[in-house]
Amino acid sequence: MPMLDGMETLGLIGGMSWHSTATYYRLINEAVAAEHGGHASARIALQSLDFAEVRACQLAGDWDRAAGLLAEAGRRCVAGGASTVAICTNLMHKVAPQVEAALDVPLLHIGDAVGAEAGRHGWRTLGILGTRWVMEEDFYAERLARHGVATVVPGAAERGLVDTVVFDELTQGVIREASREAYVDVIRGLAAQGADAVVLACTEIGLLVGLEDSPLPLIDSAEAHARALADVALGRSATPVPVG
Ligand code: GLU
Repeated sequence: MPMLDGMETLGLIGGMSWHSTATYYRLINEAVAAEHGGHASARIALQSLDFAEVRACQLAGDWDRAAGLLAEAGRRCVAGGASTVAICTNLMHKVAPQVEAALDVPLLHIGDAVGAEAGRHGWRTLGILGTRWVMEEDFYAERLARHGVATVVPGAAERGLVDTVVFDELTQGVIREASREAYVDVIRGLAAQGADAVVLACTEIGLLVGLEDSPLPLIDSAEAHARALADVALGRSATPVPVG
């Protein structure tokens, strides 16, 4: 329900990890402040999960339990006034269909924000850097394909390295120069495979690698998603209707 000032309340399912939820929170509030000035800030119903609990589900392959945790968090966002909900991680969009089904408001899918950004730049092939499920399963690439975006992923050894850095370092707030260099090497490999640009398809990778480091243009999924959410909060756009 839009408020009198036209601003919508956003529901964020976060804490996966909190390091990237902080990025969403900052970017959305900065966008609202830039638009309205003064003390204006975003109306946000945030449910910040205990990532240890979610990570245990991932490692056990218990996606039903994970879906239940996220769906319940989504319902609490709606009870807190949210008219659009977002899952603030790429990987957990693996259970987006279950979360979406549990809600009576739209879910703004991260893949739609990334796909729209690729479209704005005319990038047709994206290299994916993310957790192993995001790189190896279909759910993420399939969402991008709806936007006419093809994808390439690193080889098995590089996928292992990228996933290990996410969970052993980035989601615990650890930033290492050696890991940045290793990621840049992986990006070079994606360029050789024909990628026009790379999607940082894990919401913490933007804390490690920036445009200044990268041999290819980047889409930071957290930034693209937060920007799309800010547009919804400001009433500039409705939740994007998925194409396809
Ligand atoms: N934030 C990461 C992502 O965007 C991974 C953490 C997780 O959700 O397990 O995929």
